[in-house]
Amino acid sequence: MKDLDRKEILHWLTCDDAAALEELWQAADRVRREHVGDEVHLRGLIEISNHCLRQCHYCGLRAGNRDITRYRMAPDEIVAAAKQARDFGYGTVVLQAGEDEGLTLDMVSDIVRRIKAEAGVAVTLSLGERTLDELRAWCEAGADRYLLRFETSNSELFERMHPPRGGNRPPRMEVLRQLGPMGYEVGSGVMLGIPGQTWDDLVNDLELFRELDLDMIGVGPFIAHPATPFGQAGAAPVPGQVPATELMTYKVVALARLLCPDANIPSTTALATLNIAEGRELGLQRGANIVMPNMTPPEYRVHYEIYPAKACIRETADLCNRCITGRIQKIGRRIGQGAGASPNMRRRGRSQGASFERLAPGEKPRGLRR
Ligand code: SAM
Ligand code: SF4
Repeated sequence: MKDLDRKEILHWLTCDDAAALEELWQAADRVRREHVGDEVHLRGLIEISNHCLRQCHYCGLRAGNRDITRYRMAPDEIVAAAKQARDFGYGTVVLQAGEDEGLTLDMVSDIVRRIKAEAGVAVTLSLGERTLDELRAWCEAGADRYLLRFETSNSELFERMHPPRGGNRPPRMEVLRQLGPMGYEVGSGVMLGIPGQTWDDLVNDLELFRELDLDMIGVGPFIAHPATPFGQAGAAPVPGQVPATELMTYKVVALARLLCPDANIPSTTALATLNIAEGRELGLQRGANIVMPNMTPPEYRVHYEIYPAKACIRETADLCNRCITGRIQKIGRRIGQGAGASPNMRRRGRSQGASFERLAPGEKPRGLRR
């Protein structure tokens, strides 16, 4: 169903008929199985710094929030967490942070080199809009993937909620488009239900996933943080406002799978936050194939509060590992082995972390036309 048109995408986004939606879940699950299999790849998430110089209207880490304790993990602590991820059997670590210039070009390059040499896992970076020189250097140091959500394809809304940093820097979308040619496996995504986001915007977001031919697509509901402009009065919904609900998240996960059958799609922490009992499992049964267990040491993770009541914020890496592997096995899926590069990437042969494997193009997904 790679060729779903705008009308069909809108139909599913606005459909509230549980029986009809069952058809969408089943189609997404079938396409997921056909294209990326039953394996669920685990990416150990290490939140390496909560310093941020941006003023995003949605995020609790914004520079203007004086109510959080700022931290930056030391390189040895980051490498130790990566080794622990390797010992749990994870094939990848994701180093995520605010836009923090304390994470210098040399420091991140060294950390990447050390993780590759000492832990031997694939490295995903998610460090915001960094300069092209920094991004190139980190890729050359061995980083395999870069994750930069475009958040919304509505450029006017994006500029309003993510004020430009100033200076002569390329815009986020331009940075995103440069990552693939540099050699990265590229991840992006959006938040759902951002105040001001319309159905039309969301259809455009989904079409942009397809156009960008992403290797990884992360989508999660917007969750209001009281210490941000969007968490306070003034973030008014618009006519045709997309709701920030659990159901909407499953719909977008399922549609992303149908439109981009070969992409890696995580069942996100934000989904688990909305439904701690079975949010992750339902995400995995409606198109997702990746989970990112949190590896951040407990003394730091409580301070990485992008939104309140974030799932797993008081757990340890060991608890998260046991909880998540148990949940995956319970729904009859297997834990993936190795780096888990997306079939897209493996076909292009750009992957540095995983051994090269040429795949035959997958069968076209079936069904679901209206
Ligand atoms: N600073 C980097 C960046 O912005 O790309 C990476 C870290 S940032 C915390 C990671 C993601 O968190 C963002 O891309 C955004 O989609 C998500 N996020 C931030 N605030 C959120 C909120 N209030 N609700 C849901 N997701 C949020
Ligand atoms: Fe900083 Fe990223 Fe949060 Fe924006 S979303 S305030 S860039 S951490």
